Amino acid sequence: EAKAEGGDHICFFNPDMLDIIAARAAMENNIRIGINERQFTLFYQPQVNSAGKWIGAEALIRWRHPEKGMISPAEFIPLAEESGLIIPLGNWVIQEACLQLKSWSEHAASAHLTLAVNVSAKQFRQADFVDLVLSALDSSGADPRKLKIELTESVLVDNVEEIIAKMQLLKSHGVCFSLDDFGTGYSSLTYLKKLPLDQLKIDQSFVRDILINPNDAAITRTIIGLGKSLGLAVIAEGVETEAQRTFLQSQDCHAFQGYLFGKPSATLDIPHKTPLAV
Ligand code: C2E
Ligand code: MG
Ligand code: MG
Ligand code: MG
Repeated sequence: EAKAEGGDHICFFNPDMLDIIAARAAMENNIRIGINERQFTLFYQPQVNSAGKWIGAEALIRWRHPEKGMISPAEFIPLAEESGLIIPLGNWVIQEACLQLKSWSEHAASAHLTLAVNVSAKQFRQADFVDLVLSALDSSGADPRKLKIELTESVLVDNVEEIIAKMQLLKSHGVCFSLDDFGTGYSSLTYLKKLPLDQLKIDQSFVRDILINPNDAAITRTIIGLGKSLGLAVIAEGVETEAQRTFLQSQDCHAFQGYLFGKPSATLDIPHKTPLAV
């Protein structure tokens, strides 16, 4: 890489690198402070079925930075993963999600909702991950069957048998699994067959141009068919228009998430059901 930018000499040191390293160190430190000062918060985005009924939500982390305002996960999750801070951060997410699930279970309008939580590969691979989830469920009193863990294909890089064993243990307690961003990573169909999954989540990059790009339409159709063949539920993410929803539904996809139904928000405002006639 250094060669490519420097022509025939090798660049051993570039002063810009110091800035980058300093900025990363500062960011890491800020994440640490943020965890201690409870600056992180969860937003919730609805997931709906074909009838438009809310069936669940996905928890999406946000950082309310005292000076910089709201920071999106794309800006800090990768660094949190590299630095290992994803462990305390991710454990907080699970605890907070379980508390939210418990709270929803106490109200008739939200008692049926599931909650999907993103778990990074590094987090899932920590030795005591299963215990952490079970104790978060236990101490919150949340129903394990309403908790869905979203993994990405990156969890499959090594030790697949160990990953499967962990998944099975959690599943034996009722916890569900969804494979997020499906189709964008290293997807071996051999692994897919072996994994004790409940759901495939079609990545939004395929949904975006589903009506104008025949390749995206074909990939989407294939994922839906694959899910069907393997006995897995399929949900599409990034659904922004009625036309996309109609198309997906015509292809036999019956669960959706996207701005069309609601943006991630601090509270989940379930649309009012038809009031009972009195
Ligand atoms: P993801 O899990 O694939 O989440 C979907 C992303 O798409 C979210 O971005 C969501 O806000 C966005 N989105 C939802 N509907 C639409 C839509 O209709 N159109 C478009 N263009 N985008 C839509 P967000 O919240 O910025 O999160 C980005 C990524 O950060 C997530 O992708 C996930 O990989 C990661 N992430 C978020 N929260 C957590 C967390 O608690 N733990 C971990 N490990 N990762 C997280
Ligand atoms: Mg996700
Ligand atoms: Mg996704
Ligand atoms: Mg994504």
